[in-house]
Amino acid sequence: MHREQTKAIHAGEYPDPVTGASAPNLVMSTTFIADSDTVFSVEGLEEGNTWIYTRWGNPTIRQLEEKLAALEEAETAVAFASGMGAITALLFHLLKAGDHAIISDVAYAALSEITNELIPDLGIEITKTDTSDAEAIKKALKPATKLIYIETPCNPLLRLTDIALVADIAHHAGAKLAVDSTFATPAATRPLSLGADFVIHSLTKYLGGHGDALGGVVLGKKNELTPLRKKTAIRLGGSLSPFNAWLILRGIATFPIRMRVHQENALKVASFLEQHPEVKRVIYPGLASHPQHELARRQMSNFSGIITFQIERGKERVREIAEKLQVIHYAVSLGHHRSLLFYLHSEELLQTSFRFSSPAQLDSWNTFAGEGIFRLSVGLEDADDLIADLGSALG
Ligand SMILES: *Cc1c(COP(=O)(O)O)cnc(C)c1O
Repeated sequence: MHREQTKAIHAGEYPDPVTGASAPNLVMSTTFIADSDTVFSVEGLEEGNTWIYTRWGNPTIRQLEEKLAALEEAETAVAFASGMGAITALLFHLLKAGDHAIISDVAYAALSEITNELIPDLGIEITKTDTSDAEAIKKALKPATKLIYIETPCNPLLRLTDIALVADIAHHAGAKLAVDSTFATPAATRPLSLGADFVIHSLTKYLGGHGDALGGVVLGKKNELTPLRKKTAIRLGGSLSPFNAWLILRGIATFPIRMRVHQENALKVASFLEQHPEVKRVIYPGLASHPQHELARRQMSNFSGIITFQIERGKERVREIAEKLQVIHYAVSLGHHRSLLFYLHSEELLQTSFRFSSPAQLDSWNTFAGEGIFRLSVGLEDADDLIADLGSALG
């Protein structure tokens, strides 16, 4: 098997058989000339069928799926229009009325929000749990538990979960483990090799890497993903655009190289912030001060590029800081070549996104985040320019 950078460039791709074009073809056609015995229901779709309809499958999207499967060392991959498209298809695939799922109490906001109402309204019970605490997970288990869903590091706190430990807990209970590995990326962690059943990425972030294409993916075993593709991906319709697949394919070519620089820059910026007099607290898995630095070293071979930090009077100072920035964009999202900074106000997040069920969960949030945190996605600019920009904005 090839090494990472070679896979990022070559895996899944092939020269165009008609023209010999070396770069992947962008096939925008929604439909394909069919054989006279082509099936009309997706029920009859089999691997190796010729192309029929782009929502069912498309040669550009398939090249991306194969490249992602190679990078994650997964049997197979199904691509989606966004990370949330991937997550919702997986939830529909695994859960039905009467089932129970344990979800990280702090997670990507849209996931937190659909598990507050939309999913419970379907008759699926959700328990939100601090998944860094194995005992809390064990306590939350029920006979009907079908899924444990974690993010590591989690958005936005950068709290880690021990994947191998939680995979064991899930499997003993007859449940599956799904890991949103968007922050870690395959450059840092291979959740499937640690026992997870499914891996999810928002391709909008590090894998695409350039802030110009939404996308998502679920990776795992064929016996799960083949029915997932037919029943939830194709029928629910959250298909990736071939154009976005093509942009993301092109982005991935430099993915391992980019991750090395994201980490190198983030370490420099995190060390600078840690010494800055206005900064109260810095959380970055690569710093010895991260409360789970030992786990980070064991589970992540790259600490990625996201830092959170607290400053004195953060909420009052956001506007002034956003206006002073010359290089870093004050914007949501992360994992792009451009550095991005955004302030997350605790009180607001706790009302809209995270609904904690215990005082311990609130304590854990307060310990990490206080009244609010800046989330900084360290990009690929020169680290000294980023440090100068932050220095002049923070004063
Ligand atoms: C951005 C993000 C998502 C959602 O991805 P979209 O592509 O925006 O739908 C899911 N999980 C994590 C951890 C994210 O950062």
